Amino acid sequence: MDAKLWLTRLKDNGYRLTESRKAVVETVAATTQALSPVEVYDRARESCPGMGLVTVYRTLEKLEELGLIQRVHQMHGCQAFIASGNGHEHLLLCTNCGSTVRFSGDQLDHLIGSISRQSGYIIKEHWLQLFGLCKKCQGAAKK
Ligand SMILES: [Zn+2]
Ligand SMILES: [Zn+2]
Repeated sequence: MDAKLWLTRLKDNGYRLTESRKAVVETVAATTQALSPVEVYDRARESCPGMGLVTVYRTLEKLEELGLIQRVHQMHGCQAFIASGNGHEHLLLCTNCGSTVRFSGDQLDHLIGSISRQSGYIIKEHWLQLFGLCKKCQGAAKK
């Protein structure tokens, strides 16, 4: 993801770009790993030691408002964020390290059709997220 683009969007929306806010944006834009606000805080502080956790929350809130980042669904809540995808995509999340992969394409039409017939609902949308262990974490589990 292009942090510069996000910074421009924030600025265009009247958001003042302090060093702390920039560090938050750069941290989230630089990774495909789902990060909680505290994890963003820990990483961003490496380049900007003086920042506060409140700044992290506010900046993430603003980025979410602008649709630049999205929440990742997790078993224990939906606190972690990743960069938003383009169009209709699904997400695969490593439950161990938070790495994510996006994928498109699904053969859900048949399933959705039969659920629609059984329930009598007109189904308009779906949302799909898969959970698993990435290659790296599978290796670590074997040790
Ligand atoms: Zn992993
Ligand atoms: Zn789909």
